[in-house]
Amino acid sequence: MKNKFDVIIVGAGHAGTEAAFAAANLGSKVLLLVTNLNCIAMMPCNPSIGGPGKGHLIREIHALGGQIAKHVDESYLQIRELNESRGPAVRALRAQADKVLYHLIVKQAIENHPNITLLQAEATDIIHTNNIVEGVKIITGLSYYTKSVVLATGTFLNGKIIIGDKKNDGGPSNESPTKILAESLINLGVKIHRLQTATPPRIDGASINFNNLRELPGHEHIQTFTGLKPKKNQRSCYLTFTNEKTIKIIQDNLKESPLKLGNITQHGPKHCPSIDRKVINFPDKHLHQIFIEPESNFHNEWYLQGVTTSMPPHIQELIIHSIEGLENAKIVRYGYAIEYDAIRGTQLRKSMELKSVEGLFTCGQINGTSGYEEAAAQGLIAGINAHLKAYNLKPFILKRTSSFIANMMDELVTNERDEPLRVTTSSSEFRLHLRTDNAEERLTHIGYKLGLVKQKQFDLVNKNKEIINNEIKAMHEHKIRPTKEVLNYIENTLKSDSFKKPITYAELLSRNEIHYKNLEYFGYKCVEDPILIRKIEIQLKYQNFLDKLQKKMKYSDQLDDMILNQFSYQKVNGLSNETIIILNKLQAYNIGQISILKSLKPGDLSLIVNNYKQNMKDN
Ligand SMILES: Cc1cc2nc3c(=O)[nH]c(=O)nc-3n(C[C@H](O)[C@H](O)[C@H](O)COP(=O)(O)OP(=O)(O)OC[C@H]3O[C@@H](n4cnc5c(N)ncnc54)[C@H](O)[C@@H]3O)c2cc1C
Repeated sequence: MKNKFDVIIVGAGHAGTEAAFAAANLGSKVLLLVTNLNCIAMMPCNPSIGGPGKGHLIREIHALGGQIAKHVDESYLQIRELNESRGPAVRALRAQADKVLYHLIVKQAIENHPNITLLQAEATDIIHTNNIVEGVKIITGLSYYTKSVVLATGTFLNGKIIIGDKKNDGGPSNESPTKILAESLINLGVKIHRLQTATPPRIDGASINFNNLRELPGHEHIQTFTGLKPKKNQRSCYLTFTNEKTIKIIQDNLKESPLKLGNITQHGPKHCPSIDRKVINFPDKHLHQIFIEPESNFHNEWYLQGVTTSMPPHIQELIIHSIEGLENAKIVRYGYAIEYDAIRGTQLRKSMELKSVEGLFTCGQINGTSGYEEAAAQGLIAGINAHLKAYNLKPFILKRTSSFIANMMDELVTNERDEPLRVTTSSSEFRLHLRTDNAEERLTHIGYKLGLVKQKQFDLVNKNKEIINNEIKAMHEHKIRPTKEVLNYIENTLKSDSFKKPITYAELLSRNEIHYKNLEYFGYKCVEDPILIRKIEIQLKYQNFLDKLQKKMKYSDQLDDMILNQFSYQKVNGLSNETIIILNKLQAYNIGQISILKSLKPGDLSLIVNNYKQNMKDN
């Protein structure tokens, strides 16, 4: 049948496209609906991908066989490693993508995919019988049928654009909002709430005075998201600051801020406050960083990171012109805030399927997250599970110790929140293990088993893993004796402490000031690949901490392995009625999920674990 598909995806943003690639690469016939083909992988905010936490997600998506890392690597203007001088858990890649090229690359990849049918059409209704999905209706009245629908509508649902005292219907980047689909969801019993986010004004690059600004060039000594050597001739970003004058302008005009006018009543992302919010919260702080960043090689619009605002246009002009380098800046797009419908993530299972509607998956900003990376990560998981559902297979669930993706998903589906969820490095207690440098070693085998990672990528990761393991073993076996010559080198050249008894290379490398390549002095034949060297060094320098973490991770894995199938909380002695109601509503997949439930009282987890173990023994 021409209008029948394995999976139908509504929305071709960062979540929808990743979901489409995942399902299609696993063999599903996919229909991808989008309101406007120009909105495919659109970046309505800063075209920057990565950073702490978010960069981890991109590396993990790549390791699992997702596509965003590849598309960013093909389109970046600049790539840097943030927090280079800090600990490995917080180091992160950040790329400034060319938003025009990125959109074209993703669009082409979709057009060229034999399993994806792309259609510009607004989805208006979820077709279902008794809350079991059967398909999607589009605005022309045509219907398409499937067992698995993925909704990835971003900030479009009932979007309202806010600037000053104006609040009008609108979607991101002046697109039209979509209104009818939200009704269909409400009719299905899905609970909707309102969230908000905002973006700064864009500047014509020809009007910026770069002379006194600090230049931030790209890095060439690192590896890109897919592990390649960065290209030469990257574009630079620049740094400037607000000053007393800027702050005074904002303070004098706060009465016109939508925050004060009551025009913005919903919560925005906590980690990305508007400049008016910063001034309200920290009135004495005058110096706020502003990064001036190019958006594309195809046009000359520049993004001003750090000065998000939806103040009226004439005040935006005053604010921008008070900043060094931007005195004569020409604003080509004014900043604005957008308010939109989102669904509470707690209505979802870990597979991203709605608990109340069989076969309906949601992912991305519609779930109350914020960010391209969070959207893409959810898209990957939703796409995989929509495919598995279409083929009547068991859902794909990642353990919390495997990835930031798993931690984000668990948090999203377990705990309610009123502001958009963003991933940071503090989002996981296992962050020292869940680093960007070891994403491949952690996840490639899982992506390979799923069928998303190609043989070549899998073989390469295995080969590298073997080299790393052999090196680490060798470091523990080789000992060095404190001869006069050795101590002279250690103390005077490497500026490290002397030692009296023989010590292993591993012990030596646990010292901050000693590097793997220093071992060549002792005649050791080091591996040459700088990426592998880095992995080996991190492993050895943080061995003690990683060993301590192992115990915690083992416990977490045990809890994740306790799958809850028709588990009766009523039968757990000691749980309050209130807790039983919460747990019944949660419909947790495993006890691991329960362990992060914020409303759980101390002691409740042990009661549940003990009861679970007893049940297992009895059966
Ligand atoms: C003003 C603004 C500021 C932002 N600021 C930041 C920021 O600072 N940092 C950050 O990381 N992120 C920011 N974001 C968020 C970022 O844009 C999103 O997180 C990301 O785009 C979400 O991806 P998504 O795939 O969920 O949705 P989107 O990228 O919004 O894609 C949604 C897709 O759904 C389609 N669609 C919607 N409804 C329908 C329908 N009924 N039928 C068919 N297709 C439909 C659209 O055409 C689009 O293709 C901002 C977004 C906006 C709008």
